[in-house]
Amino acid sequence: MPTNVLTVDYLVIGAGAMGMAFADVLVGESTSTIAVVDRNDAPGGHWTVSYPFVKLHGPSNFYGVVSRPMPSDEGTRSLASRDEILHYYDRVMRETLLASGRVTYLPKHHVDVVEPGRRARARSLVTGETTEIVVRKRVVDASYMNITVPAMRPAGFDVDDAATVVPINQLAELDRAPERFTVIGAGKTGIDACLWLLERGIDPDRLTWIVPRDAWLINRELEWQSDGFQPLMKLLVCRSADDVISVLEEKGVVIRRDPDVEPAAFRCATVDTEELVQLRRIKNVVRLGRVRAVGASIVTLDEGTIPTTPETVHVDCTADGLTQKPLKPVFEDGAITLQPLLPCLLAPSAAIAARLECMDGDDEWRNGLCPPVVNPDSSRDLLSFYSLRLERMARWARSPELFEWLVTSRFVTGTGLERMAEPDAQATVSFFASRMEDLLKADAAVSAAG
Ligand SMILES: Cc1cc2nc3c(=O)[nH]c(=O)nc-3n(C[C@H](O)[C@H](O)[C@H](O)COP(=O)(O)OP(=O)(O)OC[C@H]3O[C@@H](n4cnc5c(N)ncnc54)[C@H](O)[C@@H]3O)c2cc1C
Repeated sequence: MPTNVLTVDYLVIGAGAMGMAFADVLVGESTSTIAVVDRNDAPGGHWTVSYPFVKLHGPSNFYGVVSRPMPSDEGTRSLASRDEILHYYDRVMRETLLASGRVTYLPKHHVDVVEPGRRARARSLVTGETTEIVVRKRVVDASYMNITVPAMRPAGFDVDDAATVVPINQLAELDRAPERFTVIGAGKTGIDACLWLLERGIDPDRLTWIVPRDAWLINRELEWQSDGFQPLMKLLVCRSADDVISVLEEKGVVIRRDPDVEPAAFRCATVDTEELVQLRRIKNVVRLGRVRAVGASIVTLDEGTIPTTPETVHVDCTADGLTQKPLKPVFEDGAITLQPLLPCLLAPSAAIAARLECMDGDDEWRNGLCPPVVNPDSSRDLLSFYSLRLERMARWARSPELFEWLVTSRFVTGTGLERMAEPDAQATVSFFASRMEDLLKADAAVSAAG
């Protein structure tokens, strides 16, 4: 097979939300040449294979790239749809990245790094041809978070030949009405499946929802209001982690689906009031842990079984859209590994890393400004979720150049976080962060003691 050679300043592996946000800043803020390589045929990462009725679930202004507003930036209630997101990334690729004349885009190519930070090989998944990519500055790994959605892999449990298990994508392709539906999984995807079925008129009695762990849900209507900083200060009077969570619930910041069940998880899923009303209509909720196998007549879970039928459609919503990867420095010699710098907010995180890359300074300085964070998982992570938002803004204010860029960007404008540069706000934030940390330590000590 012939081999082409391409020499660029940066190689970006992955044209998902992170790779696109990174390349967009690099194009806008530097004169560098960039190769963007992705296995998929279009930019947008997991959105290219997601179910057709998926939408953003966080505010659109925290998503996308810096240089271009999302189609639904005007408010939290109008969330961009999959098609809008894909159209958006297509335009960013064509009208911003490729139009710069400095970006080479290789869709349908798989990349292997041959010499870390220096050389990689991209193989066309169509022709088999390879392109040697010589990298002058850095290899940017925008695939490290390894997001999976159900359409990307088989179900993670055994499925009997006589049972019907489909990924959520196939709901939109139904050509006959099944007897019943069982939705497996209670994250963002499971919520979307339930809401879609209810919106299409399914009687909740024909719906079973397998909820391995109840999760706290973010109230989308109160997320990042213009005074997003002040309400959190009410948490300073709390005396324990439980107390913090109670106050967040009391203020309506976080919500539980079932008033009688204490959620153990927190995975950044969001709902609005109307969606909550709909989800609460579902009464057949199964809390027996994870599904191990779906048979013709029973579903086996960690802690028991439930009856089912071959005519029941089991909707697999179990993939991990919010991975927790081991943390590593974002900036290393010849390499950048994109990771969340704010919990759950991957697009702004990639843009901030790119802006730091374009600024004068060494990697020690850059890494000091952007230690990565682990995405949340348990209810306790609510404390660091809220304190990290403030702590990071205060940290970024240490670099006036970065801060000025950030607060005038579409990601931050209107959140009230502009005030983080003021000395009294900085002092409050640092007090808040240490208070939340103390509460978490006390909580861990109590748990360890039994
Ligand atoms: C259904 C869903 C909804 C979400 N909604 C939101 C939201 O509303 N707001 C929010 O902030 N976050 C949301 N998230 C979180 C999600 O993590 C981010 O939205 C984001 O899209 C992740 O982008 P990414 O670039 O990290 O990953 P991906 O979208 O997975 O992109 C990575 C890309 O890298 C490519 N790739 C990987 N390895 C290679 C290789 N070796 N060679 C070539 N190409 C490679 C892949 O093909 C892929 O296109 C959601 C997640 C899911 C699953």
